[in-house]
Amino acid sequence: MRIGAHVRQDDDPIGCGERYGADLVQLFLGDPQGWTRPGAHPRQEQIRASDVAVVVHAPYVINVASTNNRLRMPSRKAVAEHAEAAARLGAFGLVVHGGHVRSGEEVAAGVENWRKLFERQEDKGGFAVPVLIENTAGGDFAMARHVAAIARLWDAVGDYDVGFCLDTCHAWAGGEDLVDVVERVRAATGRIDLVHLNNSRDGFGSGRDRHAGITSGTIDPDLLVAVCRAADAPVVLETPAAGIADDIAYLRELLG
Ligand SMILES: [Zn+2]
Repeated sequence: MRIGAHVRQDDDPIGCGERYGADLVQLFLGDPQGWTRPGAHPRQEQIRASDVAVVVHAPYVINVASTNNRLRMPSRKAVAEHAEAAARLGAFGLVVHGGHVRSGEEVAAGVENWRKLFERQEDKGGFAVPVLIENTAGGDFAMARHVAAIARLWDAVGDYDVGFCLDTCHAWAGGEDLVDVVERVRAATGRIDLVHLNNSRDGFGSGRDRHAGITSGTIDPDLLVAVCRAADAPVVLETPAAGIADDIAYLRELLG
């Protein structure tokens, strides 16, 4: 099982990952709060050649579910651009948050916008790497907060080249019991391609998205380890940098 971390030093992701003891790194290809088109990575050759696996996280500003053209159109473009840039680095996927519609709008409209994202890209041969849709923690109009919503989304997009990224902090804060979440998500999607293994600073069902180190949040660490075992997918920690090396060592000890 690959165990790694989101690296903040985007200029040297492999070196940073190695210092953590990671065999997988996740990185942004630009400002996570911005729309800048990702350019050539200065360490592209090193990243491609490394045994450390790579996954790219798309910017948070992307919301392909949005019914607002001025947000949805740039979001579609950004997903395609980031998938291309991720492919240049040899990444195995591009993580994109499920997004949401606005309060009072039909969730079905957001689901349809997700479907159109893939349908339109099909004419261009699909995305350069698989899009991994990630569950989110908050909001009543989210596409991928609750497993029931994820199931509805998958009915619309599941036939495309799409994967799922399960964030444990988001699931917990979103109000999804972690004891059987892997089974329930798999029943909805048929797959889990990546686990964002994060503890939570906030309580169950809080709807808040504040990550904590594996042994320092409100989630029982044994439950997090059990999720990894059940998911049997690559694991990325998105937790405070100071604890990452210790947390990776802890997980390797327990997960082998
Ligand atoms: Zn994420």
